[in-house]
Amino acid sequence: MERRRVIAGNWKMNMTQESAKVLMLDVIKWMPKNLPADVDVVLCVPYTLLNFVGEMIKGTRIKLGAQNVSWAEKGAFTGEISSAQLIETGVTHVIVGHSERREMFNETCEMVNKKIKTALANNLTPIFCIGESLEQFDRGETKAVVARQVKEGLNDLTEDELKKIIIAYEPIWAIGTGKTASSKDAQETIEFIRTQFSTKVSKTLPILYGGSMNKDNAKELLSQPDIDGGLIGGASLKAHDFLCVAGSCI
Ligand code: PEP
Repeated sequence: MERRRVIAGNWKMNMTQESAKVLMLDVIKWMPKNLPADVDVVLCVPYTLLNFVGEMIKGTRIKLGAQNVSWAEKGAFTGEISSAQLIETGVTHVIVGHSERREMFNETCEMVNKKIKTALANNLTPIFCIGESLEQFDRGETKAVVARQVKEGLNDLTEDELKKIIIAYEPIWAIGTGKTASSKDAQETIEFIRTQFSTKVSKTLPILYGGSMNKDNAKELLSQPDIDGGLIGGASLKAHDFLCVAGSCI
């Protein structure tokens, strides 16, 4: 298969050096040795843990990710973080447009678009999050919502740029709630998202599912033809659970 598979953990605002050390020692020790070469494992950790986790994963196949990035290159942007600052710590991937940032920090599609462009200009791989709210899901608007988010979030990107991104489809109502989209619904939406791109882009574009993916449902979700991996929140905070999800790719 030409599409890479990606298992990405999102620690959100959790963990300190002490707890991260315990978790990472287990993750590194028990990481399946037979994980196929086309699977990337990424951990998106808080800024304060980038150097710490970055040191621990040296020599492993785990990649380092951040959870946000500024659209600006540098300057007077108090509290923001630049691509160059992330790269210096070893970051290769960055989550952009997570629904928690859209909902709680007023991130718009326009801001997300600017962040993706800046990340790409700095050779960071954006993990671009999209997904509908419960009300939109109930009204049957899922496809319209994700199509708009794709159009606006990826506005003005060239085909070459689009080939460097990862998409995470995350129904908002499934994030952190223990509710998961059925594998049929997730597959249908992700297949639809793929149709929003040219064949040249879509044949290599990894599209992940996110929303309460865990050790019990990962195998079925990941066996769907268009689901190329997962963005995993809660389950990425427990070594056994996260490794079971990753192990579902074997
Ligand atoms: C997420 O934060 O992107 C996420 C999918 O969280 P959870 O797995 O906890 O639903």
